[in-house]
Amino acid sequence: MAEDGGQGHSLGALRLGASAEELRVASGSILAEAGAELERVLVSGKAPSVAGTLEPIDRLLLTVLDVQDHGSTLFSVDVSPEVREAARQISEDAHRFFSAFFVNRAAYDALRAVDWSSAPPLAHRAAEKILREMRRSGVELDAPQRGEMQRLSDEIDAIQFEFMQGLTQFPRTVEVTDLRELEGLPADFVRDHPPDTEGKVVLTTAYTDVLPVLSYARSSELRRRMQAAFLTRAHPQNSPVLERLLRRRRAFSDLLGYPSFAAYAIEDKMMATPEAAWAFIERVAELLRAPAARDRDRLLARKRQEDPRAERLYSWDVGGLGHGYFEEQLKTEQYHVDSREVREYLPYVAVREGLFALCARLFDIEIRPVPGAEVWHPSVEAYDVYRRTECLGRFYLDLVPREGKFTHAAQFSLRTGVRGRQLPQAVLVCNFFPSATDPERSAMRYEDVVTFFHESGHLLHHIFSGHTPWAATTNAWIETDFIEAPSQLFEEWARDPSLLVGFTRHVRTGEPMPRAMAERLVEAERFGRGFRWLGQLAAAASSLALYEQDPARFAADQLLRETFARYALVPLPEGSHFECSWGHLTGYSALYYTYAWSLVIARDLLGPFLEKGTLLDPALAQRYVREILAPGASAPPEELVRNYLGRPLSYSAFEKWVLVPPPSGG
Ligand SMILES: [Zn+2]
Repeated sequence: MAEDGGQGHSLGALRLGASAEELRVASGSILAEAGAELERVLVSGKAPSVAGTLEPIDRLLLTVLDVQDHGSTLFSVDVSPEVREAARQISEDAHRFFSAFFVNRAAYDALRAVDWSSAPPLAHRAAEKILREMRRSGVELDAPQRGEMQRLSDEIDAIQFEFMQGLTQFPRTVEVTDLRELEGLPADFVRDHPPDTEGKVVLTTAYTDVLPVLSYARSSELRRRMQAAFLTRAHPQNSPVLERLLRRRRAFSDLLGYPSFAAYAIEDKMMATPEAAWAFIERVAELLRAPAARDRDRLLARKRQEDPRAERLYSWDVGGLGHGYFEEQLKTEQYHVDSREVREYLPYVAVREGLFALCARLFDIEIRPVPGAEVWHPSVEAYDVYRRTECLGRFYLDLVPREGKFTHAAQFSLRTGVRGRQLPQAVLVCNFFPSATDPERSAMRYEDVVTFFHESGHLLHHIFSGHTPWAATTNAWIETDFIEAPSQLFEEWARDPSLLVGFTRHVRTGEPMPRAMAERLVEAERFGRGFRWLGQLAAAASSLALYEQDPARFAADQLLRETFARYALVPLPEGSHFECSWGHLTGYSALYYTYAWSLVIARDLLGPFLEKGTLLDPALAQRYVREILAPGASAPPEELVRNYLGRPLSYSAFEKWVLVPPPSGG
């Protein structure tokens, strides 16, 4: 394995192929060594200094973060239940180290006593980040309260794992006995789901089953059953788990004196207060109501062609997750874009090659496969990112669903990169297709291509920001409500017709997508923007309300139903329990507004490219990397945005974008 100037990508004793026992042993010795190192720092008797205090603390926190990230990644992807269980344990052990460290008064006092007058660049900022996290963990409380905070923090961490585990432990299935219900679904989907010996087809709640059914199944009854199964995953099991999570988080923020957990969670983010988040949600909802109602009316009119007496749309008519059935119909008939036909131009390997070539050209990098890299499943691919002779980091792609694996799409950090110490490593965990190698079975839905670009935007952020001098200035410490800006911005490179053609190759003929089809596809994407984003705001309002109110006084399912009724134009279906499978409620807590807020930022960041008239401007792309991605948490996001744009963040690009009317079609 290549080691580059001392900062290689060896994973050390925490290998990807390690057994459960090896993981426990390796993690135990890393955490014990970190504890011993902290002791040495605190009892050294020397005056606190950058070299004697901050440096060793930042270093040992990084090694503990490695254990935590390694654990939560393998918990989400490993094929062996024993390894997943050990992975969860080591991640929880690392969390216990952090929760104890963050209330360690001696460490807090030592860091505060450092003289910053001749400190190297960013040292003070790194220390401030750590000190703020300590204050927000209760380090300034008295000893019994600090113990209580630590206990609550560990319990909250364990509950989050329990919630995520419920998603893979309690999946649902849908049985199709009348095979006519599969009409409208793509031929390869039907081929991949043959009837069993009793003549019935069993569908799962994996995205590879749910999304095609909601988009294409002509049978509204099948769509209804499929969505009901999807929206009751982990119900009722996760219901008390979520309630415990809300209550413990509330107890945590109560001890610190915040009016709610939402107030605590937002305080150190760009938005700063729940009031500002509510004002933002209301402002955007107001903007979207009229365009969303126009989208709804067109969808309802289309539904009436099939059912003249239809009075309303149901959530299984409009997807809820992606493009629903009537939107697909409308796009095929009025915009002449049949997404089943589009898919045939998007076999995974062609998309991936196009994405890599695009990254090479834009960012002056080369993405090289790593043959023989240790991985957790044969379908997983490993790549190194190079700029000329310098290795910048490594990433893994795990894109095929399987039992026990994380069910959504996300980028996981495997290692946080720090200059001179270690290279960043990350994993894209998605569930796009039943096979990554068979061209026909890996044909991607265009929406999944956009998701692939989205997650790659996170990945680029992780790799490029993995070279700051301190662990506490990497993107592991960045304001959470900024992190969806680079990912949503990068989606735009999948929405440019001339670029899109470059990563298409018909699964049978090998021909690229006709330019006119790519143009129609991208244009048709404008339809439903208001409708979809109003749904996103309903989710944002729900997550905020769940964490703002006193959890002793409401039922989560009821609160979600009411909030969706207030914002979205189609209510949540009766009997659904989205709260039991909504993973963002754990990691993002009150901050689901991040998607809408980060989109405001992303639209503004896109401006300079639009002014140039091309997305293919390497000089501009590299300025974006330099000013926005590479600094990680070295400066507040507002400052990064100002440095890149030459002016403060503005809403106007976003407001213009959401109000662009959809094409009229014909
Ligand atoms: Zn994202």
